[in-house]
Amino acid sequence: MNKRIHIGGTNQKSLLIDSVNGRRLEPTLTITKLTTEAQRLTWALNTCLASGLRLTLIRRAILGLLAKHLSPVNIEILSHEEELKGRCDTTTIYRMLMMLKDQRIVRQVNVRHRVRHFVLNVPGESFAYLICRSCGLIKHLDSFEGEAAMKHQIAARGYTDLSYELEFHGLCPACQRAIGS
Ligand SMILES: [Zn+2]
Repeated sequence: MNKRIHIGGTNQKSLLIDSVNGRRLEPTLTITKLTTEAQRLTWALNTCLASGLRLTLIRRAILGLLAKHLSPVNIEILSHEEELKGRCDTTTIYRMLMMLKDQRIVRQVNVRHRVRHFVLNVPGESFAYLICRSCGLIKHLDSFEGEAAMKHQIAARGYTDLSYELEFHGLCPACQRAIGS
């Protein structure tokens, strides 16, 4: 059986990997990196429909917000966004996120273990995050060469359905200014 493996990096390519011996067969189509908000939202809505989930107003709003945020966001942030404020409580948002997570449309990011953060599970996007160790701000990092090579190596060993998180901790510019003042 052949499996299509998504390899990260700026030049996103899908490769056919023979899952029996991990041999790389041939490069196939080149997929465009889903970076724009519109593309990320289209992917999310289509995946929702393909999973048989109804696109309720709240669900659509949550996906719209997650498409807008490339970096992981928590429920608190989502609940204060204009699109959701006063329309549903945090319990409803949590339930929706869990449902979307079950369908693998949303990924729970565990980089700050005290607070759950969520991000769209868009194929080909990096799982690397830059976290401020003072205020906890989380920023998404672009894919880098080493990450793509590591994914390739793992795919070559016959593993699929890979998940991981890379954390880089530092002090953000705002926190540096606050300390300096
Ligand atoms: Zn900070």
